[in-house]
Amino acid sequence: MIYSYTQISQYLTCPRRYRHRYLDGWQEKDTRAAMLFGRAFEQALSAYFLREDAASVLFREWSSCQGQQLLYSKGDSWDRMLQQGIQLLDRFCQDDRIHIRQPRRNLQIKFERPVSQKNNFVAYVDAIGNVDGTRCLIEWKTTSARYPEEPDGLLALDPQLVCYSWMTGISEVAQVVFVRKRLVEVQYLRTAITDEQRTEFGQLVADTIGRIESAQFLPHSGIRFPQNPCSTCPYIGLCLGRPELAQAALVRRPGAENLGWLDELAY
Ligand code: SF4
Repeated sequence: MIYSYTQISQYLTCPRRYRHRYLDGWQEKDTRAAMLFGRAFEQALSAYFLREDAASVLFREWSSCQGQQLLYSKGDSWDRMLQQGIQLLDRFCQDDRIHIRQPRRNLQIKFERPVSQKNNFVAYVDAIGNVDGTRCLIEWKTTSARYPEEPDGLLALDPQLVCYSWMTGISEVAQVVFVRKRLVEVQYLRTAITDEQRTEFGQLVADTIGRIESAQFLPHSGIRFPQNPCSTCPYIGLCLGRPELAQAALVRRPGAENLGWLDELAY
């Protein structure tokens, strides 16, 4: 069995959600414009580091989604997102704060490590390169709102960065956040992950896999009125026994347990 950060994080969000996704094969439909735009934008970033025309790669990749019936967040449209993407690429290029040597080797890098005799853990790290002159593991994020930077040190608690630091052994980590708002912004957020955090994350992975393998899938979404996480969960139709809701949000792909690591490439 191959595990990934996305699988562990889905289980920790709600074990029932994990069962719907990875055991029963229900998968969220790829209709979220923001997610598809994020994928297209990452292709454009790769093109930038490969010294290709990043704006035309963004246009090509984003155009391939244009015919689909996408779900846009409030105020977004295909044109507006393209325009913001091009402005963000311009800003990123002008900032010139990230340098990646040998981009064919140092972008979308696959790491794999055994976590027990029969299980492996896989991660795809967006990039390894220099941020303001410091070698870092780098994650790209596209978002419509700034990431919070307060209180100081908050980024060091980001579980995905801790996971990738645990996978690679690299303590210096960075998130480069491309903020699509009226005046676009690129945030360059850096922190260091400690040995203790990496050790604890390894323990968390072992503990979570143990629970998955002993079939503990009781629902616990952390319900807290009025912020009920179930209300934004794509699997709510299954939990409520409402097939029409499930069909609107999900497609079924039996045998998904062997392919779960592919989610690493989609999120
Ligand atoms: S709807 Fe709620 S209980 Fe059901 S999978 Fe989603 S978070 Fe879990």
